[in-house]
Amino acid sequence: MPHTLLISDLHLCPTRPHINQLFERFVKDIAPGAEALYILGDFFEYWAGDDDLAEPFHVWVTELLAELAGKGVRIFVMHGNRDFLMGPPFMQAAHATFITDPTQIDLHGTPTLLMHGDTLCTDDVEYQKFRLMVRAPQYQQMVLAKPLAERKALIEALRKKSEEEKAYKSEAIMDVNAEAVAAALRTHGYPRLIHGHTHRPGRHSHEVDGKLCERWVLPDWYEQGGYLRCDANGCEAHSVS
Ligand code: MN
Repeated sequence: MPHTLLISDLHLCPTRPHINQLFERFVKDIAPGAEALYILGDFFEYWAGDDDLAEPFHVWVTELLAELAGKGVRIFVMHGNRDFLMGPPFMQAAHATFITDPTQIDLHGTPTLLMHGDTLCTDDVEYQKFRLMVRAPQYQQMVLAKPLAERKALIEALRKKSEEEKAYKSEAIMDVNAEAVAAALRTHGYPRLIHGHTHRPGRHSHEVDGKLCERWVLPDWYEQGGYLRCDANGCEAHSVS
């Protein structure tokens, strides 16, 4: 049956060989045969800029995606909060098509809204302020004007700060806000939302304006891998281990 696969939050980096093996297995054994693969953000642990494409690990990853695209699987990539500096050179190397956050698609007959998920976490006011700052074109131009090594150091420092702050934030603040979920579904015409970011995989039912909606949260790839497989009959979560 024609089907589509969705993943997010792989946080790929050279220092997690086990996860890289799972990703390779996913791309070579599981993903071929799908009509499309959607990567909904935080594919990489971080992306310092497309001038880092020649780094051997990045070459390995983009070649795996390009090989998959060569088998007829259309690949779509959305930015996450860690890899939003991926630009046209990355998309070209990976034979992928960039999609904005949010993007609405017809997923085998069901209107489906795709998001990374961080914009739904509206209770985390500090994070939303930070997001506005780093997503501003002027800020990105300023960062990208720095030498690559300096940029990597800056990103490492920002990530360390964010990890420290997370330790003090409540679990509830870092999850999605119910009103933000309802608003997203309302704006985009219901009835299905798929996102990642929160690392709380699952399926949730929401009644919005009297309409029964479903929200799928994609898993992160920290301990094991996982993906959502959708066809005309609906979606199903699978693990890769
Ligand atoms: Mn994220």
